[in-house]
Amino acid sequence: MITKIENIGKIATWDIASEKIKIYEKQRLEILIKDTSIFKILQGPSRIDYDKVIDAKGGLVTPGFIDCHTHPIFYDNRDLDFRLRTEGKTYEQISDQGGGIKSSIDSVRSASFEQLLNESLPRIELFLKKGTTTIEAKSGYGLTLEDEIKSLEVIKELNNQSDLDIVPTFMGAHDFPPEYSSNKDAYVDLICNDMIPEVASRKLALFCDVFCEEGYFSINQSEKILRAGLDYGLIPRLHADEFVDSGAASLAADIKAVCADHLMFASDENLKKMADSNVISVILPGTTFFLGKKEYVDTNKISDFGGEIAIASDYNPGSCFIQSMPLIMFLSNLYCNLSIDLSFKACTYNAAKVLKKENEIGLIEEGYNADLLIWSLDSLESIPYAFNNNESSLLSIIKNGKSVLL
Ligand SMILES: [Zn+2]
Repeated sequence: MITKIENIGKIATWDIASEKIKIYEKQRLEILIKDTSIFKILQGPSRIDYDKVIDAKGGLVTPGFIDCHTHPIFYDNRDLDFRLRTEGKTYEQISDQGGGIKSSIDSVRSASFEQLLNESLPRIELFLKKGTTTIEAKSGYGLTLEDEIKSLEVIKELNNQSDLDIVPTFMGAHDFPPEYSSNKDAYVDLICNDMIPEVASRKLALFCDVFCEEGYFSINQSEKILRAGLDYGLIPRLHADEFVDSGAASLAADIKAVCADHLMFASDENLKKMADSNVISVILPGTTFFLGKKEYVDTNKISDFGGEIAIASDYNPGSCFIQSMPLIMFLSNLYCNLSIDLSFKACTYNAAKVLKKENEIGLIEEGYNADLLIWSLDSLESIPYAFNNNESSLLSIIKNGKSVLL
């Protein structure tokens, strides 16, 4: 099956060789898709037979977005938390009134597999509608062996039911469940001795993630969990230094994590150590914005140290309800000193690197998956600039070679 995309105005993709954005702007640009992958990029008329044509109407073609950090497996949203936050309530007061992460844990535990699946599916489809063609998704609102497995089984089934590709992460170390609040090391043992072996034997996750932060998982506890994950083939990654400099970025470098995420309070020394160890910095400006805070990461520092940067939504019911990657690009441009071109790289090629899929997705190159967006826009900067209109300016979303949703 050959599909031809014709009448393309421009193609924009990161170019590994020149380390710059490459813009194809010739007349009669065409992309030929064979089954699920990009077969040829033609800068002139083709004589190859095809089965189907997609008219790009002179628009811009980019790779689909890759969102490399999300928490989409929850049962109830937390709009009441938002109301209480606008009334000036503290995190503790919100928790006392039935909100906060505890409410997410309670509702995921009470939901059946089918209920959790049915609640999560429309959310997953919304990522695709906004132009995201691959996400990473974490468990982490169950926090018992049974409920973490249920969450990861939901991710597996969502992968079957949706056109979106979902890369699963086990995050039993998202927080301490209430029943272990006075015996935290016992919960760490449960993660290491029971949860990780079961998740691995069922092949339910590629990554193991930990909330390494003062008041949550300590450096020692985080290291123990990530090393247990490594023993079972789970790749380490961390939530690091979101509230204070707890040394999590340094642990990310020591343990050779694929990435460390958040990093608002990571020290310069540890950001440099991460860069020297090829740990990618995943910046999540949506969380700072959604919480009405001021601490954004200055990505110039990371670039100066030679570190690579990815951006992601951190979509979750409490601290960031944003799924739009164009909005995340916009926030990174405005508040994190990330250029338009590097923000585009950060949610395409570099996000693919975080997910260990940089040879399959994130670029428009022959042999790559045909995960493509066709926009009525004509410049890369118009994607973050017009974030409010993105759904109407997306003419077509192509996932694994097939037009989806639109
Ligand atoms: Zn997160």
